[in-house]
Parts: sequence; C-alpha cells; structure tokens
Amino acid sequence: MEIGIIPEPKKILPGGEGCAGHVIRENKLNPAFGEEEYRLQLKADGIWIEGGSEKACLYAEMSLEQIRLQCGEDLPCLTVEDSPEYSWRAFHIDCARHFIPAEELKKMIRMAAHFKFNKFHWHFSDDQGWRIECRRYPLLHEVGAVRKGDHMGNYDSEETEDRYYTRDQVREIVAYCKELGVEVIPEVDMPGHVTALLAAYPQYGCRGEQIPVETRAGIFRDILCAGKEETFEFIKGLLDDLLELFPGTYFHIGGDEAPKEYWSSCPLCRKRMEEEGLSTLQELQGYMENRITAYLKSRGRTVIVWNEAAYGGNLDPDTIVQLWTEDKENRLGAHMEKGGSAVISIVKNCYCDYPYGITSLQDVYELDVRPEGLEKAEKGILGTECLIWTEHIRDMEKLETMCWPRYAASAEAGWCGQKRPGYVSFEGRMKRLFPVFERYGIHAEKVSGWVPPKEEAERQKAEFEKNFSAEDRQEVEKMQEII
Ligand SMILES: [Zn+2]
Repeated sequence: MEIGIIPEPKKILPGGEGCAGHVIRENKLNPAFGEEEYRLQLKADGIWIEGGSEKACLYAEMSLEQIRLQCGEDLPCLTVEDSPEYSWRAFHIDCARHFIPAEELKKMIRMAAHFKFNKFHWHFSDDQGWRIECRRYPLLHEVGAVRKGDHMGNYDSEETEDRYYTRDQVREIVAYCKELGVEVIPEVDMPGHVTALLAAYPQYGCRGEQIPVETRAGIFRDILCAGKEETFEFIKGLLDDLLELFPGTYFHIGGDEAPKEYWSSCPLCRKRMEEEGLSTLQELQGYMENRITAYLKSRGRTVIVWNEAAYGGNLDPDTIVQLWTEDKENRLGAHMEKGGSAVISIVKNCYCDYPYGITSLQDVYELDVRPEGLEKAEKGILGTECLIWTEHIRDMEKLETMCWPRYAASAEAGWCGQKRPGYVSFEGRMKRLFPVFERYGIHAEKVSGWVPPKEEAERQKAEFEKNFSAEDRQEVEKMQEII
C-alpha cells in the first residue's frame, strides 16, 4: 500500500520484503545530521531512529505515527530520510480578540507539532484585550483584559470577557511547547493595536485620554506616543516582565496598522521628529521600532515586525520582517538588500480566518515562498507562517475547523518549499491521514469543504462579507491611508 506522510519527506525508500518489527530498537542523536534532519528505518528487527537533535528524533516519531495510522499492525519495511527546506515553520493563534483557554491552546499546539511546525506565534494583546498577567503593570490584566461586550463583525452581545493567562499558565504553555520542539514567539503589537493597553495606561498615548477596551473589530486611532520618553520606559518595564516568561530567541513587536493621525498632531511626536531628523511619520515608526529593538537586542533577543514597520526605510537591518500585505513598493526587498530577513505569510494564502470559499486548502498549499520582488534576496527568506485571527471566531470547534487541515498545508509549504509535490498529492495524503484529527480530538473541515465549488464559495464569501458594513469598510480605508 502507498504510504502518505505530511509534510512530504525528502525520501521514502523501500526497505525489503516482509513486515517490520514494532519495537523501537534505537532512538539516538547523530552529530553528522543537520539540526532538523532525521532518518527513520522500519526493519524486520524493529524501528531505528536517528536525528540531528531531540526535535529531529521527535519528527521521526511523528512520521512513524502517521505510518502506523495507515498500516496498523502491518508495518512495511522502509526508510524515511528527511529534513526541511525552511527552518521557520510557524503557526499563529490570536488569543486576544477571543480568549482561547490554556487546555484548548495546548491541544492546538500538540496538533501543530504533529505536522512538524517549530514556532508558535502567540498573539495575546490587541485592541480588544490584553491577555497575560503582568506583574509590573497589573492594570494590563485587571483592566486591559476586560472587554465589556462583543460587537465584532456581524455580532452583538453585552457579555463581558475578562479572561487572561496567569503567569503560571504561560510558563506551562511555554514548557509544553519546548517538550514538543516548538519555540514560542510572543507578540506585543506596538505602536498600534494597543487600545486595551491604553485603556489600562492612557498616559502612554498621544492624547492621554481614558478610552475603553475596544468591543468592535477594525483599526483604531489611539496608538503609543513616540514622543514621550515615559512611553519607552514603560515599554522596557513591560518587556522585562515578559522576557522572564519567554526565554526563547525571538520577540515580535508588531508594527502593523498604526494610523498616524494623532502622531501628526502631537507636539511631542513632532518634536521627536525634529530632534531625530525624521522627515516622515513612517520614519518615526521606524525610529520607535528600532529603539524597542535595541533594548530587546541588549537582552539577547531577535526582533520580528509586520511589514508596515519597514515603510519608513530606516528599520534596523537585523530585524526580521513578516510579510503579510501586498508590498507594492517592495520596501521589504530594500530591507533585505541591506541584509534583513523575512517570513512569508501573505494574506491570500496564509490567513485561515477567511472561509475556505475565499482561501481554499489549495490556496494555502500553493503559497509562493519566493514572492515577486524578493528573488534577489532569496537567502534571507526564513520560511512561512499560517495565521488565525479571532474577531469572528467564538468557539473552539470553529477555530479548529478553520485551521485544520489548512495549517497542515502550510506545514508542507514550509517543510518542502518549492519542492512541494503538488496539491493533488497533498490532498490524497491528507484524505488518508484524516483520522489523525480525531485522534488528537481536533475538529477538521470535511473533505467536501476543502476546495468549495464556485457557488458554495460565493455563498461563503457573501456570508463573511456580512461582518463588514459599508461604514466599517470606509473607516478601514481611511485608516489605511494614514498607516
Ligand atoms: Zn505623541
């Protein structure tokens, strides 16, 4: 029988006649292997695993699990030799808009690790909620985690959401990820998407006015003031508090969708521009991201930002840029020519909060990991990320079916890069491996929904559009002009 593994391994070699033994005879590190390289041998006398690291040995076990799932007790003799094309294979979950309980989050992480993802981008702060206990600035969770109502999209409720992760829960999740070979990338989005933060500490915005935690979806005008020194002191304290919880290498500081209307009229922001010789508001954003980055670098971290943070053209070249929007002026290309690197997570292929009728399983699978404009900078492309934003997701079943199996398609895009065997091959293997979701207690989209036919796709699109009124659309367009 044909064996399918996701992500598709580099090589599956036939290993002779008869059945393999079931006992793992050896599971060892091989210093000659790359960090994520492994070899899995199913032989008559048993199973042999070698890996370049413990994480790589774990990958071999994941592949073995998929083989067992298809073959049961009848394991064939074979050898899998494998290593990924890209070292960055991230999945993202937005736990700010709608809270995901720790146990549910762990289930998602476990499923992702099965498909050999190695990075979890944890989005826990946004306009609609700050969701991590902060010792130094307790109002962040006492005030910033309390959203009085939910009017995101086509939904209306006055119910209060007040959940956040305790520090112990965060430590537990970080440790759980580590066990599974997954590094956590925490994100504090700055200077925009900070309504919940400013609801707790309004003095760090330009206006200094008290605002409530946002209950609607969208892009909002109040952002952190780049002129006040106290803002930078606050950020340092906040980062110190978080770095204790997140010992990993990477830290995401956001930088997307920051409308600069208040910056442009703020005397302190204006003064800052004059003093620093900055001629545009986008350069002021670059200045701000660079100051935060410099602090994180001094603490041994590497920083990631969304691609709008590169619009000023003055971003520290060591910063990793996550490409999500269309980058018409190829400002990411310019950043990369200075030695910068990038993660590819373009909306139309990677955003799994859109229905399958807009972003089909095939669309996710067919992500171009070397988008136009970055050909010259190919070496700086670290890999891929798939994402789920939760403005319109209020229960786990919905979250899971939106992510699975689309996240598995993204896993293969990152693992195989341009060497992907093609969607038809992927779909065939995904069908055979479908029972894996049930095994992990995960709801997944049924086969007929993976690539919806035109009429069904149109229906889903129309349904999704109901989340955005004409007014909302105008507002977002207006905001985008001043980002
Ligand atoms: Zn200001």
